[in-house]
Parts: sequence; C-alpha cells; structure tokens
Amino acid sequence: MPKTASLEIHQINVGQGDSTLVVLRDLPALKNCVGRAANTMEPIDYLPYCITNGRSLVNSVKKALLVDAGNDCYGFAVREYCENVGAIDSSKVSQDNFFMLVTHYHDDHHDGLRCVMRDPDPKGGKPIEKCRPAEFYRLEPFARRDRAIGTTGIIVEEIASQVVAKRGNDRRKQTEVWYIPQGGKNEAKGNNPASQWCFNLGNGVGNLPIAIKAVASERAVFAGENQDVEHVPAKPRKGKKKGTIDENDRSVALVIEYGSFRHFLAGDAGGSEGTVYADVERVLAQQMELNMPIARAPKKAKFKSAGHCCSLKLNHHGTKYANDAQFLATLRPRLAVIPAGVKIYFHGHPTKETVNRLTAASWLKQNGTTRVTNTIDQIVATEVASKGKGKSFNPDTNNRIKVLGDIVIRPVDEDILAAQTAMSNGQSIRIQVYGNREQTPLPANSTCALRNPEDAATSGNYPVAPLEVVCSQH
Ligand SMILES: [Zn+2]
Ligand SMILES: [Zn+2]
Repeated sequence: MPKTASLEIHQINVGQGDSTLVVLRDLPALKNCVGRAANTMEPIDYLPYCITNGRSLVNSVKKALLVDAGNDCYGFAVREYCENVGAIDSSKVSQDNFFMLVTHYHDDHHDGLRCVMRDPDPKGGKPIEKCRPAEFYRLEPFARRDRAIGTTGIIVEEIASQVVAKRGNDRRKQTEVWYIPQGGKNEAKGNNPASQWCFNLGNGVGNLPIAIKAVASERAVFAGENQDVEHVPAKPRKGKKKGTIDENDRSVALVIEYGSFRHFLAGDAGGSEGTVYADVERVLAQQMELNMPIARAPKKAKFKSAGHCCSLKLNHHGTKYANDAQFLATLRPRLAVIPAGVKIYFHGHPTKETVNRLTAASWLKQNGTTRVTNTIDQIVATEVASKGKGKSFNPDTNNRIKVLGDIVIRPVDEDILAAQTAMSNGQSIRIQVYGNREQTPLPANSTCALRNPEDAATSGNYPVAPLEVVCSQH
C-alpha cells in the first residue's frame, strides 16, 4: 500500500533556540508539484523530491502554524524555510493559511517572528513588510499576571502592535491577535461551554481532525473542561518580590493530535530538577494521564497507556532542569527531538544528565513504585556543539544522538487510519523522520564548534536516509 503523510512537523534548526512549523499538506496539490515523476515514486517521497529538485510548493499547503522562530539572526532563514516548503507564499504579503504562535517571551523563541514578518529597509527607514500571518496567538500581555524575570515582552508587544497597525480598511487582510487562556482553558461564556484551547489545522486521512491543543500555559495546566485549571506552584526567587517567576514557567505546552498520533512540544517548560523553575512537568504528567486516558473503543483513537505521546520535543532545549524521568515515564515517547545549538548562545544544551535519562534502561513513575521500560528508539537533534566557549563538549558519550539539521517528522496516514478502524489495540504507527544536515554557520573566530551531522547517506531525494520509528503504543 502506498504511504502518504498529510501532517508534517518541521523542527527548524535555529541553533540555541526553538522553531516548529506544523503543516497540513494538500496531497493532490503536492502530486501536481511533482509532475510526471510522481508515477515512479511513493507519495511520501513527493515532498523531499520537490525540495531537492527546487519545485515550487506554493498552494500545496492547506494550513500551517509556526510556533516560535528562534533569535533575530535566524528569523529570515525561518521565513525562507517556510517559503521553501510552501507554508508562506512569497508573491504576496497577506497569508490566508499561515498562522503564528509564541510559547513565551524569551528572545530565542520570539525575536525571529518579527524577521519572518518583515525585512529591514536598506536605507534605514521603516521595515518592509513581507509576510502577514492570518492570526497570531500569544500569552496575555506581559505583566498582567505573574511578574516574570529575564524578559521584557517588548518584542511581542512590537509584533502585536505592528499587526494591529496594519488594519487599514481591508479587514479581511488583518492579522488577528488572540490570547491563549491560562492553563489552555476557554472559560464558559454566554452560550459557549468551557473548552480546551485548540488550533484546528484541518482534516487528514479519513477526515480525521488534526488538533493542536494547549495543555498548559502561564504556569497552569489544563485539567478537563469541567475542572479549574491546576496552578503550578512557583519556585521562590532569591532577592525578588513574591510572585516573581521565571518566564520559562509561562511556556505554552501543546499536543498535536492526529488520530492515535501525538507530538508534544512545550517551549521552555520546567521539571522537578533544580531550584529555579516551577515543576510544570509533574502537574502535566498527572493531568495528561487523566485527560488523555487509555482508549480501546472501536472507531476511536487508541492508546495503550494514558498520557502517551509518540514523539516529544524536549523541554527547554534538553536542559537537566526539565525532561524528568517521571515525565518520560508518562509520555513514553518513541522519538525524542532536541532543539539545541550554539552561535549567539551556548547554554550547554543538551545536558549529559538529560541524555542519560533519555537512554536509561527504565524510568520510575511519579508514584515512585511503577517502573516503565525505556520506549525511546531514536534521539535526533537540530545541531549539537562539540566545543562550547573554548571547552570540548560531549553530552552524548554513547553516540545516541543523530544530528540532522532541519528535521521533518511525518506519521504515516495509512497507519493512523488502520489504528482508527481497528477493533482493538495493537496497531503500530510508523513515523518517518529525516533531516537536511543544515548547520549554523559560525563566525571564524568562534570559540564554539559543531559536531558533524549524520553522514550524507543520501537515499533517493532525501538528504539523509530517512529513519522510520514504529510506535506500538496503540
Ligand atoms: Zn525561555
Ligand atoms: Zn529557550
């Protein structure tokens, strides 16, 4: 049976930063982009074929959501990436199918968003607008809730005011700005019952919806439509006013759900290790088990374990202060994705402690008694330093991490449909993962260096032979 992939999750390499592009592909339109050559290959290979052969992918994307865009210096590359995969149509400014979301107000996540939207004027005048997303999702205005340190929120205010300033007379072409509610819960209002905040990407195979759900935000976790959100206690900050928290604690956590496939991403959310960050992961693990239970009913998404996500983007670039063993024990991911690197920052990510947790034989659950066998099959990273600030760096002594550059994650449609229609658990879902080896150019006098990416064992149109991860938690 031919393999297709409607959903694409692109982890764009922005060094020590974060940027994820989620795409719903229009499969017949993609086939048209390939042309006659489409008869000689599997449909899942159309996308790399078009990229490798410089085919335009404009109008082959139904809808795309860009979550964060790294630092300023990466923003233009992120825009170019979005254009190359057809998520942004560079022939026009207003983008009907392109949306943006910011997880929290740190420069390695939000600064690049403004460069996605505009170019600087070479004559030093007003910036030139290049891309106007249809909608922009953000946390509530800075300082409305917690006092967060280490950030100003100025850039996000700037982006928001820029899009508002563009309203003019043509209301259809405005960017609408929306707030993501605390804990991902839309409170009941008028005739609308309470609900989970959700971005609808559209429908994939078998008309199955692809939903991007907020499971946490602003140091609170979604606890079901009929429950109040669960607030995560803040860690006290030395010498700071009571209620002052780290901006990372406010990160929006999202689950991309497509039938029985789930991918988790949560900006710089923290765990139990360390004294600075709120333990968002502990509450998340508990609530995800309650709100994403085991499912066996026919014609429904099927999950063998509660709270399971097939793939996981590590929290906070793979820091040791997050990515707890007990969190891994709940999610039981098959694939771990690390957004890390060097260039303007080097924070020592991913840490040895995190890599050790990812490769441990088993994980202890929060109850302190249940042991879960390690489920991770592949660990992939955008890039990893081999030298940081003049010192050699290797958190990965057993060589488990595959350095891939920009990373594409695609669950196989046919498997998702098979899991959906199966009468019982047991159906596996294949997830294809590949990269392009694209690494950050470092200045000649840099005191950092990068580990070489995976060997260019090119396979057909793939820059690096694709990996296939099989997730059997369904
Ligand atoms: Zn952050
Ligand atoms: Zn960050």
